[in-house]
Amino acid sequence: MSDPAHEPAVIACALRETAPGEQRVALVPESVSRLARAQVHVLMEAGAGAAACFPDSAYEGAGAEVVSRDDAIGRADILVGVAAPGPDLIALLRPGQTVIGMLRPLAQPDLIGQLARAGVTAISLDGLPRTVSRAQSMDALTSQANVAGYKAVLLAADNFGRFFPMLITAAGTSRPASVLVLGAGVAGLQAMGTARRLGAVVTGYDVRPETQGQVESVGARFLKLESVQSAAGEGGYARELTADEHHAQQAELAAQIAHFDVVITTAQVPGRRPPVLVTAEAVKGMQAGAILVDLAASSLGGNIEGSVPDQTVMTENGARIIGAGNLPSRMPTAASAAYSHNIVALLAELVRDGALTIDPADEIQAGVVITHQGKVIHPAVAALLESSAAGGSR
Ligand code: NAD
Repeated sequence: MSDPAHEPAVIACALRETAPGEQRVALVPESVSRLARAQVHVLMEAGAGAAACFPDSAYEGAGAEVVSRDDAIGRADILVGVAAPGPDLIALLRPGQTVIGMLRPLAQPDLIGQLARAGVTAISLDGLPRTVSRAQSMDALTSQANVAGYKAVLLAADNFGRFFPMLITAAGTSRPASVLVLGAGVAGLQAMGTARRLGAVVTGYDVRPETQGQVESVGARFLKLESVQSAAGEGGYARELTADEHHAQQAELAAQIAHFDVVITTAQVPGRRPPVLVTAEAVKGMQAGAILVDLAASSLGGNIEGSVPDQTVMTENGARIIGAGNLPSRMPTAASAAYSHNIVALLAELVRDGALTIDPADEIQAGVVITHQGKVIHPAVAALLESSAAGGSR
Protein backbone atom coordinates (compact mmCIF):
# COMPACT_ATOMS: atom_id res chain seq x y z
CA MET A 1 0.00 0.00 0.00
CA SER A 2 1.26 3.48 -0.79
CA ASP A 3 1.43 6.14 1.88
CA PRO A 4 -0.88 9.02 0.86
CA ALA A 5 1.44 11.47 2.61
CA HIS A 6 4.11 10.58 0.09
CA GLU A 7 2.02 10.57 -3.08
CA PRO A 8 3.73 12.40 -5.99
CA ALA A 9 2.47 15.81 -7.09
CA VAL A 10 -0.15 14.71 -9.62
CA ILE A 11 -1.69 11.26 -9.94
CA ALA A 12 -3.26 10.18 -13.22
CA CYS A 13 -5.06 6.92 -13.79
CA ALA A 14 -6.28 5.05 -16.83
CA LEU A 15 -9.22 2.72 -16.39
CA ARG A 16 -10.36 -0.14 -18.58
CA GLU A 17 -12.64 1.32 -21.26
CA THR A 18 -16.22 0.11 -20.84
CA ALA A 19 -17.87 1.14 -24.13
CA PRO A 20 -18.99 -1.98 -26.04
CA GLY A 21 -16.25 -3.20 -28.39
CA GLU A 22 -13.72 -0.57 -27.29
CA GLN A 23 -10.26 -2.15 -27.19
CA ARG A 24 -8.07 0.92 -26.85
CA VAL A 25 -6.42 2.10 -23.65
CA ALA A 26 -5.65 5.75 -22.91
CA LEU A 27 -2.09 5.25 -21.65
CA VAL A 28 0.54 2.81 -22.93
CA PRO A 29 3.58 1.70 -20.90
CA GLU A 30 5.99 3.89 -22.88
CA SER A 31 4.12 6.97 -21.66
CA VAL A 32 4.56 6.16 -17.97
CA SER A 33 8.18 7.31 -17.69
CA ARG A 34 7.50 10.38 -19.83
CA LEU A 35 4.73 11.34 -17.45
CA ALA A 36 7.01 10.72 -14.46
CA ARG A 37 9.34 13.35 -15.93
CA ALA A 38 6.37 15.74 -15.94
CA GLN A 39 5.79 14.87 -12.25
CA VAL A 40 2.75 12.75 -13.02
CA HIS A 41 2.52 9.33 -11.37
CA VAL A 42 0.42 6.71 -13.18
CA LEU A 43 -2.08 4.25 -11.75
CA MET A 44 -3.49 1.64 -14.13
CA GLU A 45 -6.62 -0.39 -13.49
CA ALA A 46 -5.58 -4.05 -13.66
CA GLY A 47 -6.15 -5.39 -17.17
CA ALA A 48 -6.79 -1.93 -18.67
CA GLY A 49 -4.31 -2.43 -21.52
CA ALA A 50 -4.91 -6.13 -22.15
CA ALA A 51 -7.19 -5.75 -25.20
CA ALA A 52 -4.57 -3.49 -26.81
CA CYS A 53 -1.81 -6.03 -26.03
CA PHE A 54 -0.24 -4.07 -23.18
CA PRO A 55 -0.05 -6.43 -20.16
CA ASP A 56 -0.04 -5.19 -16.56
CA SER A 57 3.58 -6.33 -16.20
CA ALA A 58 4.65 -3.86 -18.91
CA TYR A 59 3.08 -0.98 -17.02
CA GLU A 60 4.69 -2.10 -13.76
CA GLY A 61 8.03 -2.41 -15.52
CA ALA A 62 7.65 1.19 -16.68
CA GLY A 63 6.96 2.45 -13.15
CA ALA A 64 3.17 2.52 -12.98
CA GLU A 65 1.15 1.02 -10.15
CA VAL A 66 -1.43 -1.56 -11.21
CA VAL A 67 -4.41 -1.23 -8.86
CA SER A 68 -8.10 -2.01 -8.61
CA ARG A 69 -10.65 0.20 -10.35
CA ASP A 70 -11.91 1.59 -7.02
CA ASP A 71 -8.39 2.34 -5.83
CA ALA A 72 -7.58 4.14 -9.08
CA ILE A 73 -10.76 6.25 -8.97
CA GLY A 74 -10.25 7.01 -5.29
CA ARG A 75 -6.63 8.16 -5.55
CA ALA A 76 -6.37 9.82 -8.97
CA ASP A 77 -6.43 13.57 -9.54
CA ILE A 78 -6.86 12.99 -13.26
CA LEU A 79 -8.76 10.16 -14.96
CA VAL A 80 -7.58 9.68 -18.50
CA GLY A 81 -9.85 7.78 -20.89
CA VAL A 82 -10.53 7.29 -24.56
CA ALA A 83 -14.31 7.73 -24.49
CA ALA A 84 -16.31 9.84 -22.05
CA PRO A 85 -17.04 8.36 -18.62
CA GLY A 86 -20.52 6.89 -18.29
CA PRO A 87 -23.04 8.03 -15.65
CA ASP A 88 -21.99 5.17 -13.31
CA LEU A 89 -18.40 6.38 -13.26
CA ILE A 90 -19.36 10.04 -12.95
CA ALA A 91 -21.37 9.14 -9.84
CA LEU A 92 -18.13 7.95 -8.21
CA LEU A 93 -16.12 11.11 -8.95
CA ARG A 94 -15.44 13.85 -6.45
CA PRO A 95 -15.26 17.63 -6.90
CA GLY A 96 -11.84 18.77 -8.07
CA GLN A 97 -11.04 15.63 -10.05
CA THR A 98 -10.31 16.01 -13.75
CA VAL A 99 -11.48 13.79 -16.60
CA ILE A 100 -9.64 13.80 -19.94
CA GLY A 101 -10.87 12.01 -23.06
CA MET A 102 -12.62 12.33 -26.39
CA LEU A 103 -15.80 13.46 -24.66
CA ARG A 104 -17.76 14.60 -27.76
CA PRO A 105 -19.33 17.41 -25.72
CA LEU A 106 -21.49 18.75 -28.54
CA ALA A 107 -22.96 15.29 -29.17
CA GLN A 108 -23.62 14.52 -25.49
CA PRO A 109 -24.19 17.83 -23.67
CA ASP A 110 -26.23 16.16 -20.88
CA LEU A 111 -23.20 14.18 -19.80
CA ILE A 112 -21.20 17.39 -19.70
CA GLY A 113 -23.87 18.96 -17.50
CA GLN A 114 -23.54 15.98 -15.16
CA LEU A 115 -19.75 16.42 -14.97
CA ALA A 116 -20.16 20.13 -14.19
CA ARG A 117 -22.65 19.41 -11.43
CA ALA A 118 -20.22 16.86 -9.95
CA GLY A 119 -17.58 19.62 -9.77
CA VAL A 120 -15.35 17.69 -12.15
CA THR A 121 -13.07 19.48 -14.63
CA ALA A 122 -13.74 17.97 -18.06
CA ILE A 123 -11.11 18.24 -20.77
CA SER A 124 -12.00 17.03 -24.24
CA LEU A 125 -9.33 16.42 -26.85
CA ASP A 126 -11.83 16.76 -29.66
CA GLY A 127 -12.05 20.50 -28.99
CA LEU A 128 -8.35 21.08 -29.65
CA PRO A 129 -7.57 24.04 -31.96
CA ARG A 130 -5.91 22.12 -34.78
CA THR A 131 -4.12 24.98 -36.46
CA VAL A 132 -2.08 25.96 -33.37
CA SER A 133 1.30 24.40 -34.06
CA ARG A 134 2.17 23.53 -30.43
CA ALA A 135 -1.15 21.60 -30.26
CA GLN A 136 -0.25 19.23 -33.10
CA SER A 137 1.32 16.61 -30.84
CA MET A 138 -1.93 16.56 -28.82
CA ASP A 139 -4.21 16.13 -31.84
CA ALA A 140 -6.09 12.93 -31.10
CA LEU A 141 -8.65 13.54 -33.86
CA THR A 142 -5.78 13.38 -36.32
CA SER A 143 -4.01 10.42 -34.74
CA GLN A 144 -7.18 8.34 -34.65
CA ALA A 145 -8.37 9.43 -38.12
CA ASN A 146 -5.02 8.27 -39.48
CA VAL A 147 -5.61 4.79 -38.07
CA ALA A 148 -9.19 4.76 -39.37
CA GLY A 149 -8.13 5.75 -42.90
CA TYR A 150 -5.51 3.01 -43.01
CA LYS A 151 -7.80 0.34 -41.60
CA ALA A 152 -10.64 1.28 -43.99
CA VAL A 153 -8.44 0.34 -46.93
CA LEU A 154 -7.47 -2.99 -45.35
CA LEU A 155 -11.15 -3.74 -44.75
CA ALA A 156 -11.95 -2.91 -48.36
CA ALA A 157 -9.09 -5.05 -49.65
CA ASP A 158 -10.10 -7.91 -47.39
CA ASN A 159 -13.65 -7.86 -48.74
CA PHE A 160 -12.70 -7.29 -52.37
CA GLY A 161 -12.69 -10.40 -54.54
CA ARG A 162 -9.70 -9.33 -56.62
CA PHE A 163 -6.14 -8.07 -56.10
CA PHE A 164 -5.47 -4.38 -55.44
CA PRO A 165 -2.18 -4.29 -57.45
CA MET A 166 -1.67 -5.20 -61.08
CA LEU A 167 -0.22 -8.71 -61.10
CA ILE A 168 1.34 -10.40 -64.09
CA THR A 169 1.68 -14.14 -63.52
CA ALA A 170 1.79 -17.30 -65.62
CA ALA A 171 -1.87 -17.75 -64.69
CA GLY A 172 -2.83 -14.42 -66.19
CA THR A 173 -2.75 -10.69 -65.61
CA SER A 174 -4.97 -8.90 -63.13
CA ARG A 175 -5.72 -5.23 -63.66
CA PRO A 176 -5.28 -3.04 -60.59
CA ALA A 177 -8.28 -2.11 -58.49
CA SER A 178 -9.60 1.41 -59.04
CA VAL A 179 -10.28 3.14 -55.74
CA LEU A 180 -12.15 6.40 -55.17
CA VAL A 181 -11.76 8.20 -51.83
CA LEU A 182 -14.30 10.93 -51.09
CA GLY A 183 -13.11 13.52 -48.57
CA ALA A 184 -9.41 14.39 -48.41
CA GLY A 185 -9.00 15.24 -44.73
CA VAL A 186 -6.71 13.25 -42.45
CA ALA A 187 -8.48 9.88 -42.84
CA GLY A 188 -9.04 10.34 -46.56
CA LEU A 189 -5.42 11.20 -47.36
CA GLN A 190 -4.22 8.24 -45.29
CA ALA A 191 -6.69 5.97 -47.14
CA MET A 192 -5.42 7.25 -50.50
CA GLY A 193 -1.78 6.69 -49.55
CA THR A 194 -2.50 3.22 -48.18
CA ALA A 195 -4.48 2.14 -51.26
CA ARG A 196 -1.64 3.42 -53.45
CA ARG A 197 0.91 1.44 -51.45
CA LEU A 198 -1.22 -1.67 -52.01
CA GLY A 199 -0.95 -1.01 -55.74
CA ALA A 200 -4.43 0.32 -56.53
CA VAL A 201 -5.06 3.16 -58.95
CA VAL A 202 -6.43 5.86 -56.67
CA THR A 203 -8.61 8.92 -57.22
CA GLY A 204 -9.43 11.44 -54.48
CA TYR A 205 -12.08 14.11 -54.23
CA ASP A 206 -12.89 16.92 -51.80
CA VAL A 207 -14.94 20.10 -51.87
CA ARG A 208 -11.94 22.11 -50.64
CA PRO A 209 -9.88 22.90 -53.78
CA GLU A 210 -6.68 23.30 -51.72
CA THR A 211 -6.70 19.53 -51.18
CA GLN A 212 -5.76 18.92 -54.83
CA GLY A 213 -2.02 19.23 -54.13
CA GLN A 214 -2.31 17.01 -51.03
CA VAL A 215 -4.21 14.35 -52.99
CA GLU A 216 -1.61 14.38 -55.74
CA SER A 217 1.25 14.26 -53.21
CA VAL A 218 0.05 10.84 -51.96
CA GLY A 219 0.03 9.49 -55.52
CA ALA A 220 -3.68 9.86 -56.30
CA ARG A 221 -5.46 11.65 -59.14
CA PHE A 222 -7.72 14.54 -58.12
CA LEU A 223 -11.31 14.32 -59.29
CA LYS A 224 -12.72 17.71 -60.29
CA LEU A 225 -16.48 18.20 -60.31
CA GLU A 226 -18.27 21.05 -62.06
CA SER A 227 -21.14 21.16 -59.56
CA VAL A 228 -19.19 22.53 -56.56
CA GLN A 229 -16.28 24.83 -57.24
CA SER A 230 -15.32 25.40 -53.60
CA ALA A 231 -16.92 24.74 -50.24
CA ALA A 232 -13.97 25.66 -48.06
CA GLY A 233 -15.22 26.73 -44.64
CA GLU A 234 -13.41 28.03 -41.57
CA GLY A 235 -10.27 26.62 -39.99
CA GLY A 236 -9.46 24.24 -42.85
CA TYR A 237 -12.84 22.51 -42.65
CA ALA A 238 -15.56 22.30 -45.29
CA ARG A 239 -18.81 24.27 -45.10
CA GLU A 240 -22.16 22.56 -45.53
CA LEU A 241 -23.32 22.60 -49.15
CA THR A 242 -26.57 24.30 -50.15
CA ALA A 243 -29.37 21.88 -51.13
CA ASP A 244 -28.85 22.71 -54.83
CA GLU A 245 -25.10 22.16 -54.63
CA HIS A 246 -25.63 18.93 -52.73
CA HIS A 247 -28.03 17.45 -55.31
CA ALA A 248 -25.82 18.51 -58.20
CA GLN A 249 -22.81 16.95 -56.46
CA GLN A 250 -24.66 13.67 -55.85
CA ALA A 251 -25.72 13.47 -59.51
CA GLU A 252 -22.24 14.22 -60.84
CA LEU A 253 -20.64 11.77 -58.42
CA ALA A 254 -23.13 9.04 -59.37
CA ALA A 255 -21.89 9.15 -62.96
CA GLN A 256 -18.28 8.83 -61.78
CA ILE A 257 -18.78 6.17 -59.10
CA ALA A 258 -19.93 3.55 -61.61
CA HIS A 259 -16.34 3.37 -62.94
CA PHE A 260 -14.76 2.37 -59.60
CA ASP A 261 -14.25 -0.99 -57.90
CA VAL A 262 -13.91 0.47 -54.40
CA VAL A 263 -15.29 3.67 -52.86
CA ILE A 264 -14.17 4.87 -49.43
CA THR A 265 -15.99 7.87 -47.98
CA THR A 266 -14.65 10.11 -45.21
CA ALA A 267 -16.54 13.40 -45.63
CA GLN A 268 -17.54 15.37 -42.53
CA VAL A 269 -18.71 18.89 -41.80
CA PRO A 270 -18.14 19.92 -38.18
CA GLY A 271 -21.35 20.09 -36.14
CA ARG A 272 -23.52 18.77 -39.02
CA ARG A 273 -24.76 15.39 -40.18
CA PRO A 274 -22.30 13.79 -42.59
CA PRO A 275 -23.36 14.67 -46.17
CA VAL A 276 -24.79 11.83 -48.29
CA LEU A 277 -22.37 11.67 -51.21
CA VAL A 278 -23.25 8.24 -52.62
CA THR A 279 -26.95 7.68 -53.26
CA ALA A 280 -28.62 4.27 -53.52
CA GLU A 281 -29.01 5.02 -57.23
CA ALA A 282 -25.25 5.52 -57.57
CA VAL A 283 -24.56 2.19 -55.82
CA LYS A 284 -26.94 0.49 -58.30
CA GLY A 285 -24.66 1.67 -61.09
CA MET A 286 -21.66 -0.22 -59.67
CA GLN A 287 -20.50 -3.68 -60.73
CA ALA A 288 -21.14 -6.84 -58.68
CA GLY A 289 -18.25 -7.24 -56.26
CA ALA A 290 -17.85 -3.49 -55.72
CA ILE A 291 -16.90 -2.50 -52.17
CA LEU A 292 -17.97 0.66 -50.40
CA VAL A 293 -16.62 1.62 -46.97
CA ASP A 294 -18.38 4.46 -45.15
CA LEU A 295 -16.11 5.94 -42.50
CA ALA A 296 -18.73 8.53 -41.63
CA ALA A 297 -21.41 5.90 -40.85
CA SER A 298 -23.01 6.69 -37.50
CA SER A 299 -26.41 6.83 -35.86
CA LEU A 300 -26.76 10.25 -37.55
CA GLY A 301 -26.39 8.68 -40.99
CA GLY A 302 -23.33 8.54 -43.20
CA ASN A 303 -21.91 9.42 -46.61
CA ILE A 304 -23.45 6.37 -48.31
CA GLU A 305 -27.20 5.88 -48.46
CA GLY A 306 -28.07 2.62 -46.70
CA SER A 307 -24.84 2.24 -44.70
CA VAL A 308 -25.19 0.93 -41.13
CA PRO A 309 -22.37 1.35 -38.57
CA ASP A 310 -20.56 -1.91 -37.85
CA GLN A 311 -22.56 -3.80 -40.46
CA THR A 312 -22.05 -4.95 -44.01
CA VAL A 313 -25.05 -4.52 -46.29
CA MET A 314 -25.20 -6.52 -49.54
CA THR A 315 -27.08 -4.68 -52.30
CA GLU A 316 -29.25 -6.36 -54.95
CA ASN A 317 -26.63 -5.70 -57.63
CA GLY A 318 -23.92 -7.44 -55.59
CA ALA A 319 -22.12 -4.44 -54.11
CA ARG A 320 -21.14 -4.50 -50.45
CA ILE A 321 -21.57 -1.41 -48.24
CA ILE A 322 -19.43 -1.61 -45.09
CA GLY A 323 -20.41 0.79 -42.29
CA ALA A 324 -17.14 1.46 -40.55
CA GLY A 325 -17.97 1.89 -36.86
CA ASN A 326 -15.05 2.36 -34.49
CA LEU A 327 -12.09 1.51 -36.75
CA PRO A 328 -9.31 2.81 -34.46
CA SER A 329 -10.46 0.28 -31.87
CA ARG A 330 -9.88 -2.48 -34.42
CA MET A 331 -6.18 -1.56 -34.48
CA PRO A 332 -5.94 -0.98 -30.75
CA THR A 333 -2.18 -1.21 -30.23
CA ALA A 334 -1.25 1.48 -32.74
CA ALA A 335 -4.29 3.61 -31.98
CA SER A 336 -3.62 3.49 -28.22
CA ALA A 337 0.07 4.29 -28.65
CA ALA A 338 -0.77 7.37 -30.73
CA TYR A 339 -3.56 8.46 -28.39
CA SER A 340 -1.35 8.02 -25.33
CA HIS A 341 1.29 10.18 -27.02
CA ASN A 342 -1.37 12.89 -27.47
CA ILE A 343 -2.31 12.63 -23.78
CA VAL A 344 1.30 12.93 -22.63
CA ALA A 345 1.73 16.07 -24.75
CA LEU A 346 -1.45 17.56 -23.28
CA LEU A 347 -0.45 16.76 -19.69
CA ALA A 348 3.04 18.15 -20.25
CA GLU A 349 1.28 21.39 -21.19
CA LEU A 350 -1.22 21.37 -18.31
CA VAL A 351 0.95 20.21 -15.41
CA ARG A 352 3.17 23.08 -14.29
CA ASP A 353 5.47 22.84 -11.25
CA GLY A 354 3.78 19.68 -10.08
CA ALA A 355 0.21 21.00 -10.30
CA LEU A 356 -2.54 20.84 -12.89
CA THR A 357 -2.99 24.43 -14.05
CA ILE A 358 -6.30 25.36 -15.63
CA ASP A 359 -6.19 28.63 -17.58
CA PRO A 360 -9.18 29.05 -19.90
CA ALA A 361 -7.53 32.15 -21.40
CA ASP A 362 -4.83 29.97 -22.99
CA GLU A 363 -5.67 29.30 -26.67
CA ILE A 364 -5.33 25.53 -26.34
CA GLN A 365 -7.19 25.29 -23.05
CA ALA A 366 -9.99 27.53 -24.39
CA GLY A 367 -10.78 24.75 -26.85
CA VAL A 368 -10.40 21.72 -24.61
CA VAL A 369 -11.54 22.72 -21.11
CA ILE A 370 -15.29 22.15 -21.11
CA THR A 371 -16.24 22.26 -17.41
CA HIS A 372 -14.38 23.73 -14.44
CA GLN A 373 -15.30 24.53 -10.84
CA GLY A 374 -18.90 23.43 -11.25
CA LYS A 375 -19.59 25.34 -14.49
CA VAL A 376 -19.69 24.58 -18.21
CA ILE A 377 -17.12 27.13 -19.35
CA HIS A 378 -16.80 26.18 -23.03
CA PRO A 379 -19.01 28.76 -24.81
CA ALA A 380 -20.34 26.48 -27.58
CA VAL A 381 -21.25 23.69 -25.15
CA ALA A 382 -22.75 26.15 -22.65
CA ALA A 383 -24.87 27.68 -25.44
CA LEU A 384 -26.05 24.23 -26.51
CA LEU A 385 -27.04 23.32 -22.96
CA GLU A 386 -28.86 26.63 -22.51
CA SER A 387 -30.80 26.22 -25.75
CA SER A 388 -31.79 22.65 -24.89
CA ALA A 389 -32.88 23.81 -21.38
CA ALA A 390 -34.94 26.64 -22.96
CA GLY A 391 -36.46 24.13 -25.42
CA GLY A 392 -37.33 21.81 -22.56
CA SER A 393 -39.04 24.55 -20.53
CA ARG A 394 -41.20 25.76 -23.42
P1 NAD B 1 -13.15 16.21 -41.41
O1 NAD B 1 -13.11 14.87 -40.74
O2 NAD B 1 -13.95 17.31 -40.79
O3 NAD B 1 -13.70 16.02 -42.91
C1 NAD B 1 -13.06 15.15 -43.83
C2 NAD B 1 -13.07 15.79 -45.19
O4 NAD B 1 -14.37 15.80 -45.73
C3 NAD B 1 -12.59 17.24 -45.23
O5 NAD B 1 -11.43 17.31 -46.00
C4 NAD B 1 -13.75 17.98 -45.85
O6 NAD B 1 -13.34 19.03 -46.70
C5 NAD B 1 -14.45 16.88 -46.62
N1 NAD B 1 -15.84 17.15 -47.01
C6 NAD B 1 -16.83 17.72 -46.27
N2 NAD B 1 -17.97 17.79 -47.00
C7 NAD B 1 -17.72 17.24 -48.21
C8 NAD B 1 -18.49 17.01 -49.37
N3 NAD B 1 -19.77 17.39 -49.45
N4 NAD B 1 -17.90 16.41 -50.43
C9 NAD B 1 -16.58 16.03 -50.37
N5 NAD B 1 -15.81 16.23 -49.29
C10 NAD B 1 -16.36 16.82 -48.22
O7 NAD B 1 -11.70 16.74 -41.69
P2 NAD B 1 -10.34 16.43 -40.93
O8 NAD B 1 -9.74 15.21 -41.46
O9 NAD B 1 -10.61 16.53 -39.48
O10 NAD B 1 -9.47 17.65 -41.42
C11 NAD B 1 -10.04 18.94 -41.54
C12 NAD B 1 -9.01 19.98 -41.81
O11 NAD B 1 -8.18 20.17 -40.68
C13 NAD B 1 -8.09 19.69 -42.97
O12 NAD B 1 -7.90 20.91 -43.64
C14 NAD B 1 -6.83 19.27 -42.31
O13 NAD B 1 -5.69 19.49 -43.12
C15 NAD B 1 -6.85 20.18 -41.13
N6 NAD B 1 -5.97 19.72 -40.09
C16 NAD B 1 -4.95 20.54 -39.76
C17 NAD B 1 -4.09 20.15 -38.79
C18 NAD B 1 -2.98 21.04 -38.41
O14 NAD B 1 -2.81 22.10 -38.96
N7 NAD B 1 -2.22 20.64 -37.44
C19 NAD B 1 -4.25 18.94 -38.14
C20 NAD B 1 -5.30 18.12 -38.51
C21 NAD B 1 -6.17 18.54 -39.49
